[in-house]
Amino acid sequence: MTAGRELQRQRRLLRPTTKVLPEDARAHNRSMVLQQLFHSGPCSRADLARTTGLTRVTVSDLIASLMTEGLVTELGLRSEGKVGKPGTLVGLRTDAFQIVAVDLADDERMHGAVLDLSGEVRERRSASVEGRTGEAAVQALIGLCRELVAAASYPVLGVGVGSPGVIDPEGTVVQAPNRGWYDVPLAALLRDALGVPVHVANDANTAALGEFTYGGASDTGLLVLTVGEGVGAGIVLDGALVQGHEHAAGELGHVTAVDERDDVDGAPLGRPARCACGRTGCLETVLSVPAVRRRIAGLDAEARDTALAAVGRRLGIVLAPVVSAMNLAEVVISGPRELLDGPLREAALAAFRERTMPAISSHVELRMTSLGEDGVLSGAAVLVLSGQLGVT
Ligand SMILES: [Zn+2]
Repeated sequence: MTAGRELQRQRRLLRPTTKVLPEDARAHNRSMVLQQLFHSGPCSRADLARTTGLTRVTVSDLIASLMTEGLVTELGLRSEGKVGKPGTLVGLRTDAFQIVAVDLADDERMHGAVLDLSGEVRERRSASVEGRTGEAAVQALIGLCRELVAAASYPVLGVGVGSPGVIDPEGTVVQAPNRGWYDVPLAALLRDALGVPVHVANDANTAALGEFTYGGASDTGLLVLTVGEGVGAGIVLDGALVQGHEHAAGELGHVTAVDERDDVDGAPLGRPARCACGRTGCLETVLSVPAVRRRIAGLDAEARDTALAAVGRRLGIVLAPVVSAMNLAEVVISGPRELLDGPLREAALAAFRERTMPAISSHVELRMTSLGEDGVLSGAAVLVLSGQLGVT
């Protein structure tokens, strides 16, 4: 364990028992106010005091400093006919800043966008990976980020990056084998090169944040399963991303799902295949997009549905203990709809229901993402919102 991580672990352990310092309290109050303005839109200082539980004086003081920072603005008097003195509305200046987001999940191309604070994509840029790894891949990413920052029409609040691999909360890529990154302080490198705040997180975790903030997902427990070249998952519980002991929470792609010794209901999955991680039969070996495409190539409609259902069944079996252990409300699948929605998703839900208590499974939703292909980009924007403003 590195010194930084050890310190972080201690901080986490100590947090409940240490005294809250005045500057911590102020930061916390500031994000409560920003959070309220972000989610509920413009309101008066009195409304803010009521919804946050802060005093009028504290709210007025915070609003004054947020106005000085240029993040909040006054929007005139409330027009509706309420008793008493009408309050001046204050609102987040969603039009005054933009966010740069990059999605590195695709092995072939890096996808980037400029988004406004409401999550709307304003500009898109992408760049070919061309097999670059290590330092060359970092330089290519810096190039794409520079292009995006230049394409923004307002000051850039920060850059958010969703990358495959295990990534610590400081934005250091602990390992991302496909990029040849091991202990690469990616956020710090990009920050130095670009001169703006940078936040980096695992792509599946990023997709979970995007779903949570912009995809209308449940706030009482959400798992987002990302299916592409690989299979990953991000979990949001009680409004916070689950990091796990070694920042690798959600690595469901490398749970063994096909075993030589079992032949569940004669499901036609064949012998377990070798996985990129060196073991055999991982969920990724049957559920990754290339694996599913190979499995259904050349099949007629009926055989195709049977094959997809067999894969879905394995997914349901893997999800059952995870969703039960955390009593999650929702599982969202992100990936190609034509493969994943339909027999695969239905079989996954059926297998999941068979294997869990009705008290847990009857309310669980298993649905496709509403963010299309932009899940990671939206989430990368949320990384910046939460890192810079404390808003998720
Ligand atoms: Zn594996």
